[in-house]
Amino acid sequence: MRPRFDEHLLAQRDERQARAALRHHRVVEHRAGTRFYCDGRELIGFCSNDYLGLADHPDVVAALRSAASEHGVGSTAAHLVCGHHRLHQQLEEAVAEWLGYSRGLLFGSGYLANLGVLQALLAPGDVTVQDKLNHACLIDGARLAGAELCRYRHADVDGARRQLQSRPEARALLATDGVFSMDGDAAPLAELAALAQAERALLYVDDAHGVGVLGANGEGTSTWLGLDAAAVPLQLVTLSKALGGYGAIVVGNDALIDAIVQGARSYLFTTALPPPLASASLAAVRIARDDAARREHLHANIARFRQGAAQLGLPLLPSSTPIQPLLIGDNAATLAAARRLEAGGFLVAAIRPPTVPAGKARLRVTLSAAHRDDEIDRLLEALARALLQPARPAAPEGE
Ligand SMILES: *Cc1c(COP(=O)(O)O)cnc(C)c1O
Repeated sequence: MRPRFDEHLLAQRDERQARAALRHHRVVEHRAGTRFYCDGRELIGFCSNDYLGLADHPDVVAALRSAASEHGVGSTAAHLVCGHHRLHQQLEEAVAEWLGYSRGLLFGSGYLANLGVLQALLAPGDVTVQDKLNHACLIDGARLAGAELCRYRHADVDGARRQLQSRPEARALLATDGVFSMDGDAAPLAELAALAQAERALLYVDDAHGVGVLGANGEGTSTWLGLDAAAVPLQLVTLSKALGGYGAIVVGNDALIDAIVQGARSYLFTTALPPPLASASLAAVRIARDDAARREHLHANIARFRQGAAQLGLPLLPSSTPIQPLLIGDNAATLAAARRLEAGGFLVAAIRPPTVPAGKARLRVTLSAAHRDDEIDRLLEALARALLQPARPAAPEGE
């Protein structure tokens, strides 16, 4: 007999509940800088990816407003129909120039970009070799392309080499996050670039969390590690993290970008980003590139958090980026810690599988240039209470 959906969905929900793996929406009534207003309470957020505090920067907001007045909201069509606006073009050029590439290509989001890049460049018979901790959309792109996906142990360049060398005849894309989204560490890009060159593989770096944050002018992980466009021929820049907006730009040379334009279904068959968002990102790019003091303040905040956490004996991971996870392991214990923090006025994300591997649930603390010293100090005290003191009797289940 054909199985029913309703029973299946109920069973699936019960099973997620039992693993403390259910996820829930939280309604943000209002957000201003690092302050989130939820359920009538003001919480200090250490959970957003707005590392430079650009999501509500006055220049960024003004750029969006004036572009909307001038051009309206929607782009009205896909890029290759009639949706490719001058503001899109300017943004692509600005980001390409900033990172030192000849071309940029705007996608609706980072997720769409990775689906499109891998699907456009790879076909069945090709291989993509990837870090085990790569973002989900790099994995999904490989599946969509029908290419063979080989995953190496996190940051294990020898593992990547073995996988490439075991498939010497296959066209190969070596793909890695620049900064790992749930761990905060940087990929060994110099070694991976040398490997890609030796093995004639194409290196693709998803630098969603590096751009704006690392490098003297915020150019991202590659530049920070001394690598140029020859060493890293293709990169992803998201506009949704340090740049505080929405969308993503793939930067590369003419041949790569042309191939992606012609072949990426998530580029061809979707409406172009609203032009006012491109205008907002143009303003954000200028600030992220030129406002060194903002970036220095972010790094001072990271240093303050790490120093304080080390003094308190909190279990830090080796990260010098705004992503500062505290590994707990168990799902329910991680949720309980997040709840204790929230009771103390802090919003910190409890990250559980499948976002991270099983048994590796964690609090993902993220820092921003917008945080003040006293906010960081109070978070540290709250973390010490939530993680280092014995928990009260078990709280009721559910998030
Ligand atoms: C957030 C993220 C993406 C997806 O970007 P969106 O613009 O949010 O769709 C891709 N890759 C990595 C590493 C990310 O952290």
